Amino acid sequence: MRACIVHDHADGAKVEDVEIDEPRAGEVVVKIAASGLCGSDMHVLHGRSVVAKYPMVLGHEGAGVIEAVGPGVTNVAPGDHVVIALYGPCGACHACLTGDIAHCNGADRMANIFGTMGDGTTRLRQGDAVVYPMIGCGSLAEYAVVRSAMVVPIADDVALDTICLAGCGVTTGLGAVFNAARVAPGDTVAVVGCGGVGLNVVQGARLAGAKTIIAIDTNPTKLEIAGRVGATHTIDASTVEMADGLKAIVPGGVDFAFEVVGSPTLVAAAFELVRPGGTCVMVGSPPTGSTIPIDGRSLFADRRLIGTTGGNNVPHRDIPRIVDLYRSGRLDLDTLVTQRLPLDRVHEAIAAAEGGTVARSVIVF
Ligand SMILES: [Zn+2]
Ligand SMILES: [Zn+2]
Repeated sequence: MRACIVHDHADGAKVEDVEIDEPRAGEVVVKIAASGLCGSDMHVLHGRSVVAKYPMVLGHEGAGVIEAVGPGVTNVAPGDHVVIALYGPCGACHACLTGDIAHCNGADRMANIFGTMGDGTTRLRQGDAVVYPMIGCGSLAEYAVVRSAMVVPIADDVALDTICLAGCGVTTGLGAVFNAARVAPGDTVAVVGCGGVGLNVVQGARLAGAKTIIAIDTNPTKLEIAGRVGATHTIDASTVEMADGLKAIVPGGVDFAFEVVGSPTLVAAAFELVRPGGTCVMVGSPPTGSTIPIDGRSLFADRRLIGTTGGNNVPHRDIPRIVDLYRSGRLDLDTLVTQRLPLDRVHEAIAAAEGGTVARSVIVF
């Protein structure tokens, strides 16, 4: 099959043939219909990610149709339409058994995050060489073999080349609002960074009933899209100091500020946008070993700084919720997909993601 693979971050991404093995017990084969290109793919591509293990097939925001199932799989059958969830809870670890499914640390799930099945093997090869699927997904390929816990069945009439965003960006953005922050009706919200995930934080805040939603970015195109999906105000941080811009709208600071870039200095700056008693949520993934330089007096004034990985999502609760919100017209995913390209044009999607010119490129098969 054809797949987008990275052999070394110095070489960049290539589209090559990769061999795929049969599914083993508890695994399924997904014929990929579409896969969004996310910022985390860029981190693996450029060697900035702890989950990178080369050669690695990129992609972790996929949707498709079940092609085959391995022994013991009962949750899906061939022909089912599915979204591949970024994290498939194991159902057996202490966190899962005590209801904290978002923080599953079962061996299978942890192995998936770092590109293998629980026994250290993968189902991808090039000749004798082992190939690793990114986060156990590797969805920028014609097929993916994943653990059955990682697929969430959806209705057949939902466009796969749109709902694939539920695999990562939408789940993370909405989850940051609903699961991590728990924004309430009437709250005031600032969103620092309006890429694929940040725009979904904006949408989540709208769905939660926030009265003021301030989108902050340096890219006017992203701010324009933010306005279309729910931002009540925008601040172009390339022309206005964001703290000054925000204080002109909400003088005392917002109830919630979300940092959706992964920059330690921006997290510290977002923390300063929050009112005393408010909460700053770090949604972006900061570099390994980084330190966030927050002001001690600001923290002392009852402000909270919390982190969230993937919006604390519980796939079998949150992905069906996203599908329902999309089908009812309350969640706008169509605006977020700015271009659809075939796999052999993936370099155009990568260039667009790096240039910050699009909210989301989706590779279609
Ligand atoms: Zn992602
Ligand atoms: Zn678990």
